[in-house]
Amino acid sequence: MAVTESLAEEAHGPAGAVHEGILRRQSARESSARTYARALPIVPVRARGLTIEGADGRRYLDCLSGAGTLALGHNHPVVLAAVRRVLDSGAPLSVLDLATPVKDAFITELFRTLPPGLAGRARVQFCGPAGTDAVEAALKLVRAATGRTGVLAFTGAYHGMTAGALAVSGGAPEVQAARLPYPQDYRCPFGVGGPRGAELGVRWTESLLDDPKSGVPLPAGMILEPVQGEGGVLPAPDDWLRRMRRLTADRAIPLIADEVQTGVGRTGAFWAVDHSGITPDVMVLSKAIGGSLPLAVIVYRDDLDVWQPGAHAGTFRGNQLAMAAGTATLAYVRENGLAERAARLGTRMMEQLRSDLEGLACVGEVRGRGLMIGLELVEPGAPAAGDGPSASGRGGRPEPDGLDAVPSGEERSVYDPGAAPFEMRPGARDPGAAPSRAPRPAAPGLAAAVQRECLRRGLIVELGGRHSSVVRLLPPLTISDEQTAAVLDRLTDAVAAVARADERHGPHGAPEHDPGTGTGMGADTGVGTD
Ligand code: PLP
Repeated sequence: MAVTESLAEEAHGPAGAVHEGILRRQSARESSARTYARALPIVPVRARGLTIEGADGRRYLDCLSGAGTLALGHNHPVVLAAVRRVLDSGAPLSVLDLATPVKDAFITELFRTLPPGLAGRARVQFCGPAGTDAVEAALKLVRAATGRTGVLAFTGAYHGMTAGALAVSGGAPEVQAARLPYPQDYRCPFGVGGPRGAELGVRWTESLLDDPKSGVPLPAGMILEPVQGEGGVLPAPDDWLRRMRRLTADRAIPLIADEVQTGVGRTGAFWAVDHSGITPDVMVLSKAIGGSLPLAVIVYRDDLDVWQPGAHAGTFRGNQLAMAAGTATLAYVRENGLAERAARLGTRMMEQLRSDLEGLACVGEVRGRGLMIGLELVEPGAPAAGDGPSASGRGGRPEPDGLDAVPSGEERSVYDPGAAPFEMRPGARDPGAAPSRAPRPAAPGLAAAVQRECLRRGLIVELGGRHSSVVRLLPPLTISDEQTAAVLDRLTDAVAAVARADERHGPHGAPEHDPGTGTGMGADTGVGTD
């Protein structure tokens, strides 16, 4: 049927016909590289706060939030008012990098929020409107400032899809940057987790930098995410971040904090680096800073500002609507203490998810920081890593024989560079180690089934992690207590359904999602309106 005929038919048919028609045309006309649209066959037509209404008439609680873009949820009144003010004022909408009152206000508000060590001597560069372009700018900046080329990056990192950003991401096809182990408890590359695992990563980094035969020349910079998002929701310990700051500062290596996803209150502090109190040399900012519209900048210490005019140009660096929406969002988060609220709410949500779900064999770990939460799905029947002779020492797990590894000297920080090597002492526990279980193989099929089951229940969640086995929650910071309860209910119910189906039918036996047969729970709970 011709597109125009099918459109005419849909216009007079039920809502479901419009929904199905748009999805059908999408799959016929859009690129096979499309992503979210594959797992989330919905057609948003209206949205407010946490709630999206689809062309099928269903309502969904949106915990994807534009991949973390919507700090205030969809169409927050302060954002809409800011956008309308610009539209009504007759201001130009796109101005390259010229000065405007709208931009001036944005910079003032942005600088107000920066870590104190940076705020007083920051410079800002407006970039093309995507996080990845700001990453490119940051790499260019530190290369120009140091005259060096190499970059230190981390396993599991995600910095974007352009060439330079990909080269420092974990999935890069070939190694173009020295890759360091990112700290994680559940799948610690050293098999120990906790502070000891993080400490070993620091020592590895130091030895790479100080060993003249390591094959890693002094780099132009180090780039890291304070919480890895796409890598599977992995919060770096604050001590680890402080150590990375110290070791880069000691060697005059600029530290780039990629806060594209973690910024604007998401992790329970305005910027995720604030948890540790460090001051990065460069910060990469995008997503939420545009208040749901495209905007990306880097902010950096003024003495790095030695690159040439035009060193990082681009047409779309002057989006006035995004700057106005961003100013309103930054101010609203700051004035309403939304970062603190994210910290409290995130802790509560993770506690509840742990108590409800960590008993299930298919749930490996619940983790996160603030309202950046992940639930790792694992193969329930498979043996846990280390079920065998070399199993000892995973972070926080009491050893079968009652031996736990702890750093020597109880009062001393595990990050004390002078600390003696770790030693085993009977009956002791690793302070601060996560109380998690030995890792089982990742279960991307189960994670995808959970995502489908969530959608049936009117809940939109994202998948992430190295193996796409981590179900991710990125709700807006404005989510209410009632909405939080609804999100947790639906997620818990979805995971339990998948666990039951997996038991009954074997691996990934949960039924496939049929967009036409959803239960529509999102439509009738009444939860989700602001
Ligand atoms: N850096 C981080 C930490 C991200 O999470 C992302 C995107 O998810 C990017 C950079 C790239 O941003 P964009 O998709 O806007 O290019």
